[in-house]
Amino acid sequence: MSTTAYTMTIDGKAVTSAASINAIDPATEQVIATVPDASREQLDQAVASARHALSAWAATPLNERRAVLGRIAGILAANAPTLGALLSLEQGKPLAKAQEEVFISAHWCAEVAKLPLEPDTVTDTPESLVQVHRVPVGVVGAIVPWNFPVALAFFKIAPALLAGNTMVLKPSPMTPLTALKFGELLREALPPGVFNVVSGGDALGPWMTAHPGIDKISFTGSTATGRKVMESGAATLKRLTLELGGNDAAIVLPDVDVDAVAATIFWGAFANSAQFCLAIKRLYIHDAVYDKLAQALAKLANSVKLGAGTEPGVELGPVQNKAQFERLKGLLADCKAQGYKILAGGEVADKPGYFFPVTLIDNPPETSRIVQEEPFGPILPLLRFTDIDDAVARANASPYGLGGSVWTADEAKGLAIGRRLQAGTVWVNEIHTIAPNKPMAGHKQSGLGVEQGEDGLLEYTLPQTVSLKRTAGAGA
Ligand code: NAD
Repeated sequence: MSTTAYTMTIDGKAVTSAASINAIDPATEQVIATVPDASREQLDQAVASARHALSAWAATPLNERRAVLGRIAGILAANAPTLGALLSLEQGKPLAKAQEEVFISAHWCAEVAKLPLEPDTVTDTPESLVQVHRVPVGVVGAIVPWNFPVALAFFKIAPALLAGNTMVLKPSPMTPLTALKFGELLREALPPGVFNVVSGGDALGPWMTAHPGIDKISFTGSTATGRKVMESGAATLKRLTLELGGNDAAIVLPDVDVDAVAATIFWGAFANSAQFCLAIKRLYIHDAVYDKLAQALAKLANSVKLGAGTEPGVELGPVQNKAQFERLKGLLADCKAQGYKILAGGEVADKPGYFFPVTLIDNPPETSRIVQEEPFGPILPLLRFTDIDDAVARANASPYGLGGSVWTADEAKGLAIGRRLQAGTVWVNEIHTIAPNKPMAGHKQSGLGVEQGEDGLLEYTLPQTVSLKRTAGAGA
């Protein structure tokens, strides 16, 4: 299937471009579509249209903006079968998971629409009235990665639009199709210019982060790129929200019921073929349960169905792109060269598609590449510990601080250990229960600012403090 049926959305209209880029099916390595490669002038047009639409959208009553988000939720839910199929095709994830991602995005819009944004009265006396209003930041440039191309976009779209901003969204060049399609679908729901979608190659992101017409960049991607975004935004003092990489640790205590938690831990590490910022990437297991849990995980690894996301019954798809596939093969080669024991997987089939088997590495040294680097794919080090303080220290010995989890039969102990993890999101006996009302902030080099929850919504606003000196007797 090769098609050029994908158009950008600029000022509410379908826009093509002179140049194009290819979208690749990660299961076959074949070109499945071509999409516009926006020129600099087209980005300028998108930014100008967002700027033009800003004052009217910001002045639209909050309740009307809430209602628009509700309508967007409805459009997403109604189109979940087709958007999900497209997402599965371009990203590689199983069809059911792709459709779930679209429904999650709809749910996000509906729930974010309910978050409070009314002015806060900080002083109200006979002499003085002081209120803090929340005004939009302006034109938001949203840049998203390829692992959850729909959900990660709506994590930005919903709060930004609710707060009265307008937006230019750039999907990853690896997964542009679904974003271009939902851009098309939303044309009917929003005034022209409020929401623009531009696709393009490697030049487009840096053009956005340096663009004088963009007031804020909301970025999700790697820490390395996040640094560049920050550097580039400095010239125009852009507001930034950065959701970056992680190397999340899970700590399994000796009292855990291995049979009860093994599958949850397995999916906590490998869901979405481990292309998950908050995936378990270092699994610290107490010596008392190490062998039993390692065996249970190996059994799951050996039985999981790997294949094209569009194939029925597939549980894990290919990794999304060639660069990522090569990186994982490099990490695996390093593990083999160092002589680490492999408990499951470890053999990459010589066939088309970026299929990487679930691979478990048995207790590699703390200094190994597989422990220190973020693989962002289905290869996981299992790490043995005997002393909990040692495990916490090892978990925290990372430049990242995105998430972490603790697994135990003792809730109080789990919570106490969880609080010691240097991470913005901590789970005890559960994982990946993110929600529109739960703030998610990368600590250390995992990010800057917050997404989700009231804190996340406020990142799309600027406080405007209005103080009134009351005239004596007025209103009496
Ligand atoms: P990436 O940083 O390579 O790319 C992310 C986006 O930035 C893409 O749209 C890309 O085109 C764009 N981009 C690339 N260079 C740019 C530049 N110089 N200026 C502006 N934009 C630029 O990341 P990726 O490989 O697509 O995604 C994987 C990474 O994202 C992992 O590190 C993962 O942990 C992280 N991630 C973080 C979160 C989170 O919420 N913290 C969520 C998902 C993924």
